[in-house]
Amino acid sequence: MTTTAVRYETVIGLEVHAQLLTESKMFCACPSPSMHSSPNSTVCPVCLGMPGVLPVINRRAVELTIMTGLALNCRIPGEAKFDRKNYHYPDLMKGYQISQYDLPLCRDGWLDIDIEGKTQRIGITRVHLEEDTARSQHMTTQVGESYSLIDVNRSGLPLMEIVSEPDLRSAEEARAYLTKLRQVLRYVGASRANMEQGNMRCEPNVSIRPLGESSFGAKVELKNINSLRHAYDAIKFEVGRQTKVIESGGRIVQETRGWREDIKQSVAQRSKEFADDYRYFPEPDLPIMMVERAWVDEIRSRMPELPNVRQRRFSERYGLSEYDARVLTESRSRADFFEATVALVTGEKGPRAKSVANWLNGDFARLLNADGVEIQDSCVKPAALAELLDLVDSGAISGTTAKDVFGEMFKTGRLPAEIVKESNLSRLDSSDEILDATARVIEESPKAVADYKSGKETAIKFLVGQVMRETKGRASPDIVLKHLREKLG
Ligand code: ADP
Ligand code: MG
Ligand code: ZN
Repeated sequence: MTTTAVRYETVIGLEVHAQLLTESKMFCACPSPSMHSSPNSTVCPVCLGMPGVLPVINRRAVELTIMTGLALNCRIPGEAKFDRKNYHYPDLMKGYQISQYDLPLCRDGWLDIDIEGKTQRIGITRVHLEEDTARSQHMTTQVGESYSLIDVNRSGLPLMEIVSEPDLRSAEEARAYLTKLRQVLRYVGASRANMEQGNMRCEPNVSIRPLGESSFGAKVELKNINSLRHAYDAIKFEVGRQTKVIESGGRIVQETRGWREDIKQSVAQRSKEFADDYRYFPEPDLPIMMVERAWVDEIRSRMPELPNVRQRRFSERYGLSEYDARVLTESRSRADFFEATVALVTGEKGPRAKSVANWLNGDFARLLNADGVEIQDSCVKPAALAELLDLVDSGAISGTTAKDVFGEMFKTGRLPAEIVKESNLSRLDSSDEILDATARVIEESPKAVADYKSGKETAIKFLVGQVMRETKGRASPDIVLKHLREKLG
């Protein structure tokens, strides 16, 4: 008997939670805590879940959710409703969470992701609004007794849930989706969307099926994932595990598994056969939201240009390569910085946009990365970079000098013209210094001189390099070459 190996296809749908960037919480007036707020300092009877209090809807949170929905090409129905999702957990203060069940704010959208140079459209099932829970912290005493502490600051923060269709087919696609979604959330200013900081969290649902099969296999939901890389690793692991189970004659049961980063494995948490019954019912303390068209249109009119559109415009308007346009539009602040700088460069030579792009994607990006600083927090501002470009353009400093000057600007925030003037870095125009350096180099490099004289053309390149070094890159290589040829005959 012969058997042909069955090949499997991976199916993934993602549930993503993102904390919204509002000043206050979802249903009370408590300020959104900062990373430095001490535990239980931003709480009130509403988010503590005391009896007898009434929630009030945060309008800004609703707007940010609608804006996200629009950015994800969703339909915004005219009516939306809050529901109670009932379950018991120590960090759920009221014993229920206000969420949205059958009438979410946004539905039926899509997000295009780029994968291996191709565009793939991933369906968005829904985007809804809910409240975050408190956070428990599990501790152990020195004698090994365990106890838990609870911080209620996070309780009641507005949380948006974005549910995708099961359209993703690999861990790579899931990663591309999360990266793209994070970019969109940041562009519209809805969330910081930082998985490591916990303000974006994701739960991948993973199943496999024989290639060519049209129905889905049983899915496993993965919890406790707190970075993009963990999401990728967890999906890879889970696909491998499911494949092994099936190939050894087993069956996948629908269940929730947790990702254990320490052992790089998923472990069973609870089976869906004992699935929670959340006993959803309409939140009696909140009215149905009537979402007027005019309001949606007004929100749409305030929406910033989205990354894909901006990238295309950068290519067309500034004549940039696809790569440059993509890297520049990765974050809104970098794209803003680019356009502000281009607008300020006054030099008349050549297409300036390309030079600005080179600085932003080259030295500037490298230094920012090394320091872990975001461009908007750098002490280099667009006007200073524009001034530096003008100095290079007018021939006042060489390209090599400009790199040093930029390093200094980046460290100190000082303006380039000032640095150049103070450190005597302007380009050597007067030949005296160049002639001196040339003479010195000829004297100190008898071998290269002899090589050149015996017809070895490349030797002169070495000599030019030496003179450039002597003059700290301030001489023009063309002029140096001219002087050398004259001297050496
Ligand atoms: P649940 O009620 O268990 O949360 P949903 O039907 O709401 O399940 O789906 C949750 C997520 O799981 C969605 O992102 C959806 O696309 C995804 N999903 C549904 N079925 C599958 C499947 N068979 N394999 C992988 N993902 C799936
Ligand atoms: Mg689920
Ligand atoms: Zn509160």
